Amino acid sequence: MTKDFAYSICGMCTVRCPIQVSTKNGQVALIKGNPHVPSMKGAVCPRGVAGKALLNDSERPQTPLIRTGKRGEGQWRKASWDEAFDYVVEKMNNIKEKYGARAIALTDRGGPFRDLHRAFLRGIGTPNYCNHDASCARNVQHAALSLTGMGRKSVKYDLKNASHVVLQTRNIFEAINVQEVNDLTDALEKGCKLTVIDIRANISSTKASRYMQIRPGTDYALNLAVIHELIKRKLYNREFASQYIKGFADLEAFVGQYTPQWAESETGIPALQICQFVEELAASQPSVIWHPGWMTARYHDSFYVSRTIYIINALLGSYGAKGGLPFVSKPADVGRKGLKEFMSLYPKPEEKRADGVGWKYTHFEEGPGLAHLLYKAMETEDPYPVKGYIAYRHDPLMGFPDPERLKKIWDNLDLLVSVTFSWSDTAWYSDVVLPLSTYLERESIIATNNSLKPFFYMRQRALSPRYDTKADWEIVAGLAKRMGLPDIAFDSVEDLWNFQLNGTDVKIEDFSKTGMVQLAEKPIYKEFGSFKFKTDSGKIEIISKKLEKAGIPSLKPYVPQPLPPDGKFRLTFGRCALHTQGHTVNNPLLFEQMPENLLWINSHAAERLNIADGDYVNVESNGHSESICAKVTDCIHPEAVFVVHGFGHRLPVESRAFGKGLADNNFMLGGLDIWDQAGGAIAYQEHFVSVSKAS
Ligand code: SF4
Repeated sequence: MTKDFAYSICGMCTVRCPIQVSTKNGQVALIKGNPHVPSMKGAVCPRGVAGKALLNDSERPQTPLIRTGKRGEGQWRKASWDEAFDYVVEKMNNIKEKYGARAIALTDRGGPFRDLHRAFLRGIGTPNYCNHDASCARNVQHAALSLTGMGRKSVKYDLKNASHVVLQTRNIFEAINVQEVNDLTDALEKGCKLTVIDIRANISSTKASRYMQIRPGTDYALNLAVIHELIKRKLYNREFASQYIKGFADLEAFVGQYTPQWAESETGIPALQICQFVEELAASQPSVIWHPGWMTARYHDSFYVSRTIYIINALLGSYGAKGGLPFVSKPADVGRKGLKEFMSLYPKPEEKRADGVGWKYTHFEEGPGLAHLLYKAMETEDPYPVKGYIAYRHDPLMGFPDPERLKKIWDNLDLLVSVTFSWSDTAWYSDVVLPLSTYLERESIIATNNSLKPFFYMRQRALSPRYDTKADWEIVAGLAKRMGLPDIAFDSVEDLWNFQLNGTDVKIEDFSKTGMVQLAEKPIYKEFGSFKFKTDSGKIEIISKKLEKAGIPSLKPYVPQPLPPDGKFRLTFGRCALHTQGHTVNNPLLFEQMPENLLWINSHAAERLNIADGDYVNVESNGHSESICAKVTDCIHPEAVFVVHGFGHRLPVESRAFGKGLADNNFMLGGLDIWDQAGGAIAYQEHFVSVSKAS
């Protein structure tokens, strides 16, 4: 389907904004936010604009490739799709025969387009699906579940109507979600307060009414002191607490010792400032959003940081409130039928998961598992061998710690496949590369957005593929056909969409006007008293039975954060508005805007080391060293250094990104073993480096 414009869904980051793509003479003329989505305001972010450059980039996989040299050598032969599918399926069948279907695993980056390839995994009989969340949002997801029995996406951040927004583990103005940026900007213009708590004065802090620079790794201490103040001074929402919080007395007794004065010595934030901040929060309740975070795979206790944030939101009565955390509605909540699921075609495999989630680790949610524990199973063959692995739009070698160890682990595999639209370290190390069409050249399965006003939305193909690449559903169909799974081997995207829409009263044509189908007339705010949490009591449960049963405290005493060892710095990282992790660094337009990352280092620390702004420095840890340009600034805490993640590419096929900047995950030796036992995510920021001026 090639036409003058198409409604699509941006694929330049995991937010997946609804967009409209205009085309002319086989080229993209304009990419803009879908004009039928008010919060998009017709805008996209810089990365969204650069989709055009991705489309035209010849430095992306253009045809199926089968490895001919050793893994990682970069020697390939071009293959037809039939040949590549046959090759992969033969290897998968061999693995199945020798080790059972459970020996095949797949990881992806999560999101709304997973149903089909997860159905493929079910169809072949393996339980081993993981998404990348162990390197991102697992802690916050598990924190939400441990208190409410509901996942983090069961509430919306009603930024537009908020009176006070707190960003502690979220940097909205750099890790951009266009609708969130627009909504928060509108709210700020109407007088909403913004508090930013970070080790670094980031772009979000420049728009804040209060910025508190916190000592790295001490966020939990601050949050305990905030809870202490809210309770001790009776500033919390008593109506909400009495109706919806179970275990309030336990919480009150637990936080008794965590005064603002105590927190000052740990966090570096003056007690008086903490007290004033708490008063401001209380004055704005219940239209307060203390964002519980997204990328929360940071410290040993990040799970408890997110958990205390949810508790603070509850104490302020934000749950369910307009301008707070109102509950989203699913299609069934508004009397509509949801999309038919491909996964419903096959039974859930009975085998236990290789990562131990659900049987060894009973306090973790099964669905997306924990990828680092899957890799450990590949390494040890405990509980059983995993020999085939598909990295589906996922680059663990850039995203997980200690990539050299990961490569050694993968050397145990009989098959490593990458499905990808761009080159990545993981694709380069694979046996087979199955090139995905860019999001502008492919359709995807229809997705559901559970929201205050739920809707279905569709990614249409704006242009024909430039190269010999395929859409996700075509790749799954090619494999499924050969694996004896005809039910998901669709011949046309219309058949695929009709399957999903079966029974919904919605037709494919209904998407043509706006790219979406709204399922409710207006936003639905559930009334106070009418909602229930999904716990046994229907309340937020401070003491989680699941955690306690697993020997993990619901209320964990704070463990003081020691200083970095021997003049070293804690290595921290984050996002910027111009790049999405590693996969945009070689994009011609974005590379031009930001070709390398810089090492943020505190001015006093830099002076001590004789480092001036713009000097090249060596960063070193455990015998590994890389050089990078220094940004000397007062805006970062002296115990830490900071880089934007995703740089340090070393692939010869990426001529622009090659050799530019530093890859933070290379400095995380042993990092697959350093993770938050309560929340499940990797603790990325528990690594330390030394910095010296390059000679
Ligand atoms: S935030 Fe930007 S890159 Fe991400 S989906 Fe939206 S427009 Fe695309």
